[in-house]
Amino acid sequence: MVRFKIEDFFSPEDLPNLVPSQEYAVAWVNDRTIPHNGVDVALRNAYRESLPHKPFIKVFWAEGPGVITRASYHFTDSLHAYGNRLSISFDTQFELYIAHLEGIFPTMRVGKEVGKGELLGFMGDTGAVTGPHFHFGIRDKNTGEYWNPHNFIDFSAVIENDG
Ligand SMILES: [Zn+2]
Repeated sequence: MVRFKIEDFFSPEDLPNLVPSQEYAVAWVNDRTIPHNGVDVALRNAYRESLPHKPFIKVFWAEGPGVITRASYHFTDSLHAYGNRLSISFDTQFELYIAHLEGIFPTMRVGKEVGKGELLGFMGDTGAVTGPHFHFGIRDKNTGEYWNPHNFIDFSAVIENDG
């Protein structure tokens, strides 16, 4: 069922500086748990601390045709505000979404078909976040349920950076 590789979303220059920062299912916030319905990918601490300014990390579409289904700013006053969020339908059942973007690339409009390697947007800290990262989530378009992204995306290339 896994069909994406996390390295296909990033340039070879950026990939070594990225690590998973928050796992699927459970997140600790102020000593209580809230469900976390995606996997977060952020900068390695040592790399972040070496930067004089905010990072400029690009995210690309990772495989053959997808269709943009959302490209907008999402706000709620809960801990789930996604900020700038881009959703891409990749088959009849599922869409992948990437949240907290600094910016969505201007050509990424609802209805646009995107192919592998197209620039989607930039790492940011919009919405409810504690720092810049990408939130990768998988949503069932028919039921609205969120699925474990590990069933769809092979994150091993960034997990290895964490060691
Ligand atoms: Zn997240």
